[in-house]
Amino acid sequence: MINICVVGAGIIGLSTAVVIQQKYGSAVSVTLIADKFSPNTTGDGAAGLWGPYLLGDTPHEKIRIWSEATHDFLESLWKSEDAGRLGISLIPCYRVNVEVEPLPAWKNTVYGFREMPDKEIQKIGRPGLRQGISFVTYICECSKFLPYLLEEFRKNRGNVVEQTIKNWAQLVDTYDIIVDCSGIRARDLAGDRSVAPKRGQVMRVTAPWIKAVILDDSDDGNYVIPNMDSVVLGGTHQEGDWNMNIYPEDTQFILEGCQRLVPALKHVPVQREWVGLRPGRPSVRLDREVVRVKNRKVTVIHNYGHGGSGVTLFWGCAKEAADLVGEALSSKLLKSRL
Ligand SMILES: Cc1cc2nc3c(=O)[nH]c(=O)nc-3n(C[C@H](O)[C@H](O)[C@H](O)COP(=O)(O)OP(=O)(O)OC[C@H]3O[C@@H](n4cnc5c(N)ncnc54)[C@H](O)[C@@H]3O)c2cc1C
Repeated sequence: MINICVVGAGIIGLSTAVVIQQKYGSAVSVTLIADKFSPNTTGDGAAGLWGPYLLGDTPHEKIRIWSEATHDFLESLWKSEDAGRLGISLIPCYRVNVEVEPLPAWKNTVYGFREMPDKEIQKIGRPGLRQGISFVTYICECSKFLPYLLEEFRKNRGNVVEQTIKNWAQLVDTYDIIVDCSGIRARDLAGDRSVAPKRGQVMRVTAPWIKAVILDDSDDGNYVIPNMDSVVLGGTHQEGDWNMNIYPEDTQFILEGCQRLVPALKHVPVQREWVGLRPGRPSVRLDREVVRVKNRKVTVIHNYGHGGSGVTLFWGCAKEAADLVGEALSSKLLKSRL
């Protein structure tokens, strides 16, 4: 039996752990180790809208493969009997911009993509907007979806350990392969100094009459994204800012900007404000490394640095991480240890 541990119980770690179980079945024993679980992971506060965002120089082809696989997976969940319980919605989106950008590479992944005529952009948005695109895509609410994934993981004989890992040395005596899904904290755990936060502050309000996403892609833009029990108003993306306290000036920016997009938001009850740190990196890290720990070689598969797109890429990345586990399983290195 091969012992694998996955560090991280966010959307990336949990999905990776489940895909490894699905792919290798009883040949492996998978343990999930984390010190934070839902509802306290980054994805729990995110709106969960599908759409590649803040991914640095991650190769376009990789983004296409991972995001399409995730879109297909969300489609299969949406068509299941459990879509509501799992937090999956299908929703119309209007994305507007003061700049005219090239059309996104993912335009054929979503449904009914079209460019909005000027007249329509002015109706939906605020003055000064020059571009608008409209399409239908999925939202995956992690606060509903992660408990489901954890349940699946346990059902497939997965072990769950609540623990903080300081270094790989803590794991090498027990596990043959380590899968690193530590998000922003890969900066310390994997010693990767290129990992840095993109701070995001948002607000959740009660406004069940909002049934579409309105997202202003301009640099100083705001967004309004409906979830099932709240509407997420956003948002900020402050590079390198680790502060998880609410900034009153961000609250004001969010309220004023979103009310400019949807004036009726002026009178809605606020449920809560939240700050999360997107795991920023020059590009997503999804690779296999052999590290020497305690005079022993151990395979570490890294899957972190998903920036503002963890919920957009998770399934595609989980599948690729599971393929890397397969490579490690068949490598001479591991065979010599068996
Ligand atoms: C405001 C905001 C809005 C967003 N909106 C969207 C959106 O609409 N669509 C989208 O696709 N993405 C969105 N994102 C981005 C998305 O939320 C993240 O990319 C994603 O949640 C990252 O998931 P993760 O599993 O890598 O990290 P995390 O959720 O942070 O999980 C990390 C896990 O690793 C564990 N861990 C780390 N280090 C250790 C250690 N040393 N020992 C033990 N455990 C450890 C933690 O306990 C945790 O379980 C948004 C993010 C923010 C902040």
